[in-house]
Amino acid sequence: MKAKTLEQALADDIEEVLLNSEDIKCRVAELGRQISEDYKGKDLVLVGILRGAFVFLADLIREMSISAETDFIAISSYGSSSTTSGVVRILKDLDEDIEGRHVLIIEDILDTGLTLNYLLKNLSSRRPESLEICSFIVKEGKQSVKINLKYLGYTVPNRFVVGYGLDYAQRYRNLPFIGTLKPHVYEEDET
Ligand code: 5GP
Repeated sequence: MKAKTLEQALADDIEEVLLNSEDIKCRVAELGRQISEDYKGKDLVLVGILRGAFVFLADLIREMSISAETDFIAISSYGSSSTTSGVVRILKDLDEDIEGRHVLIIEDILDTGLTLNYLLKNLSSRRPESLEICSFIVKEGKQSVKINLKYLGYTVPNRFVVGYGLDYAQRYRNLPFIGTLKPHVYEEDET
């Protein structure tokens, strides 16, 4: 498929913009300030969950006034479809040892909670000093397991969203806003 420009994607494929880029920037700056206050003087490792969290993490770390190490973990999630498989598998593990360190997981979106539930168990077995989560988005009323978030950007309605790192079939990650897709996008993929 030919890549679309941002303007084309917005005009053709986006049904509704739920969070615009100015609001996102302000919220991320607030989160960066809060995290900097809370972790001042601590050995902090930000663990980004690939692939979706890379945009949020890149913006967040530049809003922080303390130094923090960055590491990434890649886990399997939805593939190309928009429904959860429930299967969680590590595709790329952390490069660093997190024992005795303060770990803050950076996630793009909390949906059922299955991914984070698995990750919390896995990472806590490596004995970090603390283990907390910062999720950019939580989907309203979707969690099948209870996950405690130390930091949260936004709550959105229970709809499939793209943009700001979030994809549909690996597209739309570069949109600077969070939006929903028009039905024809899914229908074209089914044909
Ligand atoms: P959970 O395990 O909480 O159900 O799902 C978490 C992962 O599923 C997220 O990290 C993300 O990759 C994917 N996901 C969940 N909801 C959405 C959504 O609305 N849009 C996109 N693009 N990905 C989602």
